[in-house]
Amino acid sequence: MPVDMVLHNAKIYTSGRIVEAGLAIDDGRILKIAKKTNLPSASTKINLRGHVTLPGLIDPHVHLRNQQLAYKEDFFSGTAAAAAGGVTLTVDMPNNRPVTMDSISLRERMRLAERRVVVNVAFYSAFPQKLEEVPSIVKEGAVAFKLYLQEQIGGLEVDDDKLLLQAFNRVANMRVPVAVHAEDRTILEAKRREMEKAGRKDVWAYAKARPPEAEARAIRRIVQLAKDCEVHVHFCHVSSAVGLHAFLRAKKDGLHVTCEVTPHHLLLSAEHLERYGTLALVNPPLRTRKDTTALWYALKQGLIDALASDHAPHALQEKNVESVWEAKPGIAGLETTLPLLLTEVSEGRLTITDLARLTSEKPAEILNLKDRGRLKEGNWADIVVVSMNRKYKIDASNFHSKANFSPFDGWRVKGEPIMTFVNGQLVMDKGEIVAKPGASQIVRWKG
Ligand SMILES: [Zn+2]
Repeated sequence: MPVDMVLHNAKIYTSGRIVEAGLAIDDGRILKIAKKTNLPSASTKINLRGHVTLPGLIDPHVHLRNQQLAYKEDFFSGTAAAAAGGVTLTVDMPNNRPVTMDSISLRERMRLAERRVVVNVAFYSAFPQKLEEVPSIVKEGAVAFKLYLQEQIGGLEVDDDKLLLQAFNRVANMRVPVAVHAEDRTILEAKRREMEKAGRKDVWAYAKARPPEAEARAIRRIVQLAKDCEVHVHFCHVSSAVGLHAFLRAKKDGLHVTCEVTPHHLLLSAEHLERYGTLALVNPPLRTRKDTTALWYALKQGLIDALASDHAPHALQEKNVESVWEAKPGIAGLETTLPLLLTEVSEGRLTITDLARLTSEKPAEILNLKDRGRLKEGNWADIVVVSMNRKYKIDASNFHSKANFSPFDGWRVKGEPIMTFVNGQLVMDKGEIVAKPGASQIVRWKG
């Protein structure tokens, strides 16, 4: 019996190195990685023409919107953007309308996503008002919880340490991680009042109103709480040298903590605000060069766990507003992450091993996804084929995302995702989405 598919003539990244081989896929999974002569016959054969073949990206920080925010992005447009960017699994954040914060809202989101997604999707939940509901949310399939410290999203009063500790104990019992947006609400509110009082409404005022110290203080506070329980805390988008320092200290102390950084915090700094204005408005804000240097240093030392796009699409009119306090923060990153990172690989600032570890292997580990994140026999066939030598300019007007604008528009890059396979199915071919809405799956927590 022939297998479903064979991809041959590839340079496959597997077990930490690139091998010239082919890959047999059956029932959505990788059956075999071997030289052509040792591969089974297949119904479909695709010649990958010597292109580098990587595990599909697992993006742990994506806002797919939909529902009442579908004008910004929906499950189809968001996952089409993912497919175009070589991302095979997006993990959806809960700050939706309605907020994902109990088993009912989660189930509804999954129901809507199921018919629309072209890459796999997993879901975060915010904390429910009644912490007793945590197990039912996990049983429904949430892979992690998200805690926002800069404002209350979900049912938890964020300034109440006792409540946070109870919440941490609950999720620790369920063995799911809690992802934290670490910016201290008290500092943010005080700084913003200061800026508004001074009549400031420019992008630099926005950055000043969210200082690095707000990040560091929030991280220190969470670390202090996490010391008393077995919880796994994942810090989202660490952006500053002082924030990073607080995180690394906890890691050194042996706490179960991980962190992610975003391409925009690595590649942009506050001086870019002049050029990009609110297009580069993001939470946490862009920092100084000193901060980006610290992030790069930690990344190269292997101290950063994951790279995440923090894909946060908005309508353009939500960016083009008079006062920065009215502007929506966020960058649509699903279609730029991999090209930007491949460019870093080409220019020698990142190795292909680091890339695979930061974008696939570690995100899979953080989210307890045992059969994804690596190209190996038995795993799901979630694959991105890239053209390492292709040079081009990022053109945001061609994005599949509804947010077809970006500070990276016009940037010269080298390296392009040319095919994306999800669960063994070709979903993107040379920039075109070739799978039907609903072709991919909801990935649920399995314990
Ligand atoms: Zn986010």
